[in-house]
Amino acid sequence: MNIKKLFLFITAFAMILPLSSCSEEPEDNNIPEENTVVIEPIETPSQSDEESSFSEPESEEPNESKEPEEPKIPMPEDESLLILVNPWNYIPEGYEPDLENVQGKYNLDKKAAQSAKDLLAAAKEAGYNMQLCSAYRTVQKSAELYSRKVNEFIGYGYSEADAKVEAAKWVAPPGTSEHHTGLAMDLVSSDYWSYYSDLEHDYEKFDSFKWMYEHCDEFGFILRFPKDKQDITGITYEPWHYRYVGVEAASYIMENGLCLEEYLELINE
Ligand SMILES: [Zn+2]
Repeated sequence: MNIKKLFLFITAFAMILPLSSCSEEPEDNNIPEENTVVIEPIETPSQSDEESSFSEPESEEPNESKEPEEPKIPMPEDESLLILVNPWNYIPEGYEPDLENVQGKYNLDKKAAQSAKDLLAAAKEAGYNMQLCSAYRTVQKSAELYSRKVNEFIGYGYSEADAKVEAAKWVAPPGTSEHHTGLAMDLVSSDYWSYYSDLEHDYEKFDSFKWMYEHCDEFGFILRFPKDKQDITGITYEPWHYRYVGVEAASYIMENGLCLEEYLELINE
């Protein structure tokens, strides 16, 4: 019995020991808890490793930062194609384009003539018989046309000063007409003349105008005086007047709905 009691006592004592060691566990836990606090910063680097793996997309940012480089605005190889002649910019004195015949009595600068012929041929293939009614014009010729218009308004009773202002709305005063460059032409389809005797805005209603508007840039031409740009160009809407600037610049201008003045401002920024 004594031995059994001793055995039980030892057994009971042995059971208390683990309990007491268990009772230490919270203390041990305290230490581990502190350790986990210590561990956390150890984990943090591992997290920051993850961050750095997340930062791989960030490393793609340089690719994104390439985007601001954006497609460059195309420029013609020959910058002389961008010559600006408008009410505020006179044709340089002595400017003389090297002319080539395009149609009938109408000539353009050699730089634009072949493209104009190609445009006329393509229009014909599409069913439109385009006819030029103006192309290269000398300053002298502009002076005659302008003077005739001034006299017309004086005939209506305008003072000479008012007549000059009115005439300028219809005929560019000598030196300010884009036709002096040899890079501009006025044209409408032959059927237009069955209905009208002068150039009028209504030409925009013709299918030939719609075709020209859609395809002119493929041949390096732009609609030079759009309806919504009159304040910038200084010229009223002219659905018949096209200007050669080269294919790349023309495509950019037409696709972005610009006028030449706006395009020049963009490339000079
Ligand atoms: Zn014109």
